[in-house]
Amino acid sequence: CFWQVGGTVLRPQAQPTGSGATRRPVEPGPSETMSGSNRSPEELLKQIRDACDSVAETQETTYETGLKVVQSMINRLEKAKRKLAKSDSYAISLKACTAIINEKPHTTLSREFKELHNSVLHMGKTIDRNLTRAASAFEDANIADPTAFTPPAGPAFAPEELSKVIVHSLMRRGRFEVADTVTRELKLTSPVPASTRKAFEEMHVCCRALEARDVRPALRWAEEQERGAAQESGSSKAEKASSWVGLGGGKKSATNGSSSPEGLSPEHKAWNVHIKSQLRDLRFQLLKLRYLQLIQEDIIQPAAAVPVGKKPLSQQDNNGEYFQKQQPSAKHQRVGQFVRPIEFARSKFAEFAGERQRDIERLAGALLFAKDLMNSPYRDMYSQGTWQDVKIRFEAAFCRSHGFAGRDPLVVALLASNVALPKRAKYAAVMRTGKLLLDEKESAVPEVNLGKEMQFHSTFVCPISKAQSTRDNPPMLLTCGHVISQDALLKITRVRRSNKVKCPTCPVESITSSVTPIKF
Ligand SMILES: [Zn+2]
Repeated sequence: CFWQVGGTVLRPQAQPTGSGATRRPVEPGPSETMSGSNRSPEELLKQIRDACDSVAETQETTYETGLKVVQSMINRLEKAKRKLAKSDSYAISLKACTAIINEKPHTTLSREFKELHNSVLHMGKTIDRNLTRAASAFEDANIADPTAFTPPAGPAFAPEELSKVIVHSLMRRGRFEVADTVTRELKLTSPVPASTRKAFEEMHVCCRALEARDVRPALRWAEEQERGAAQESGSSKAEKASSWVGLGGGKKSATNGSSSPEGLSPEHKAWNVHIKSQLRDLRFQLLKLRYLQLIQEDIIQPAAAVPVGKKPLSQQDNNGEYFQKQQPSAKHQRVGQFVRPIEFARSKFAEFAGERQRDIERLAGALLFAKDLMNSPYRDMYSQGTWQDVKIRFEAAFCRSHGFAGRDPLVVALLASNVALPKRAKYAAVMRTGKLLLDEKESAVPEVNLGKEMQFHSTFVCPISKAQSTRDNPPMLLTCGHVISQDALLKITRVRRSNKVKCPTCPVESITSSVTPIKF
């Protein structure tokens, strides 16, 4: 088959591409560009995405083919070299060399690069053409107007803050070099602190290890944190961390004055207990993974479901014995007797005996079925998703302990706008055509349901002031069951100068003394 790229016809590779990567046909041809004038913004953006995907694919195949060509040249040259070393016949090796040159490997490479170049060119054109159109389409819907998105009395748009969120997000993904470049080139006046970077570096060491099926760095971290949480106030760390990004950080010291003898408010104590139990849970999950890994190693069947120990184990620790890869002929000879998993379980799970009874029973039961795990009632424990799940938990626990948001704020913002923007655009269009409520722009901001994924129960937004609740301004439960913020409540009572509050949502009146603050 032939694929059309920007009007030129390219032949598919004569050489096998090995990985079986199929090239995506690049569309559209010149004829198609004319007809695309009345496409929706979504379609236009999709075309851009397709063009980018196509470049990425072409890049991959070009890289693979290039590697193969060069490798085959190297191999043949090595062969010629060996031949030359063995015999004195220069003629043979010279012949081999000329054969390589005559094959013109560079033509294969240049053909590949030409294709890559073409698809990059095509991508550029698609972006230029479609992005302008998409932008004007959005403009038509009046969503290019930034004021349309400014919440009433919301914070002003701060480019520096946005840049910091981006840098933070890059660090979170482990793209430290890119983050540094962005910081340098944008000349941020108050860059993300070095401690934040260091924290994310630590997180990435643990995450990479988990990806390589090594639980030790994460386990070590969890142990340290658990010990730390037992000693110090869990909030001091969060307070130290930058409070500008995310939730959970910046726990203010007690405002109610009723602190306990140790200087910790009941809130802090509860927070500490909460953090501690989560760390303990994480530790149990990590130990569980290692235990299951030990069972797998013990069976030593080629088709082990969980790949084990891709990375060489670089660091030793006191319980290193359990973390070394099984040596069949070494210490524990009775392979298949599960000596290591059983010993491991004895030494590690004992402390969890009470609270984790059911889990430990299951883990013990898994031993019985170890030889046919995939058909056992315990196969869920071996699913690939388990590692990913524990990694996500680890990330969340790590971020919480440093006062970072549990999920990347940038990603959350993008996901949220992905859902909200089209709806907002539609709404703006309807508003304009219907000429409804044009003067009351403020009250006309529609609420968009972002779905369960985006509900963070630790936050509350007051329906009156539209402000997010804080510790100083907690949500208050009225007797009718509706909730407003404390500030809004105070405002209402001040205006009305009575000890009764009329609910802004329903006709019920509440007595101020019976209104209770809500704590998350
Ligand atoms: Zn009410």
